[in-house]
Amino acid sequence: MNCPICESQFITYFHRYSQFNLLQCSNCELVFQEGLSNINTKKFIPEIYNEAWLSMREPYKESTFVEFALFNITLIQQFHATKGNLLEIGSGTGEFLYAAQAAGWNVSGLEPSATSCQYVKENYGIKLNNSMWERSLFPTQPTFNAVAFWHVLEHVPEPITFLQEVHSVLYEDGLLFFSVPNHHSFTNEICGVESLLYTEVDHLFHYSNYNLPLLLEQASFEPITIFSRQAPHRIHMDINLSLQKSDRYKEISIPQKMALIPHLQADMRGHELYVVARKKTDVKPNATK
Ligand SMILES: [Zn+2]
Repeated sequence: MNCPICESQFITYFHRYSQFNLLQCSNCELVFQEGLSNINTKKFIPEIYNEAWLSMREPYKESTFVEFALFNITLIQQFHATKGNLLEIGSGTGEFLYAAQAAGWNVSGLEPSATSCQYVKENYGIKLNNSMWERSLFPTQPTFNAVAFWHVLEHVPEPITFLQEVHSVLYEDGLLFFSVPNHHSFTNEICGVESLLYTEVDHLFHYSNYNLPLLLEQASFEPITIFSRQAPHRIHMDINLSLQKSDRYKEISIPQKMALIPHLQADMRGHELYVVARKKTDVKPNATK
């Protein structure tokens, strides 16, 4: 058993759960599920993101839109001021794609859940492609100025192959944008191995700011920036979680909570990690290691 990113053989158990085990690489600190090659995400991803998931998400629609969709499109426009063709992989309930379209991008989206595709069509008038990522869905030649996927990479069993394929649909000056849950997050710090981020059966990888550059390198990308974000609503959730374990933040005031956000972000301990990357120019596209 080698590490899927750095190929180190120094792998130990991170934690054994009832349904699966998490392993950790001692070299690059990547945490990943045991038996990745046997995991059939094509089967269980559409099953997880069903009607029940949609209705669970509905009350958070506004905050999802404000916190994530608007933040994400603002981020993209900071790095890619001109508009063009944008692909989102795993569009979910469509808030980001809708914001990107409103900002002037020519948008395309992939979404494995038929229920979500229907929802996006009805609510935002955008027709998604009801599919997991398949390289064959797109022309051989690059067609996109930007590719984005938010909280998707942790579900992908072969992240190097996936990123190499994404590389080949991007123009030479195209940009890659994505976010993943942060292994070193405040959330994980509070909840330990029982954190929902670790216990979700479809979270196959738990990345950190240390191993993401190694992963990008394997797919001929180079990071422009990697940063951590703690969305404002998330700090309230984390403080509430912490109160189940200790009284440390019992008396914390709203201004103190707000002050904690930049502190966590500066320490790369926010809930998520964000990556903006470009194609490496010193290698041929699709070059493997
Ligand atoms: Zn490793």
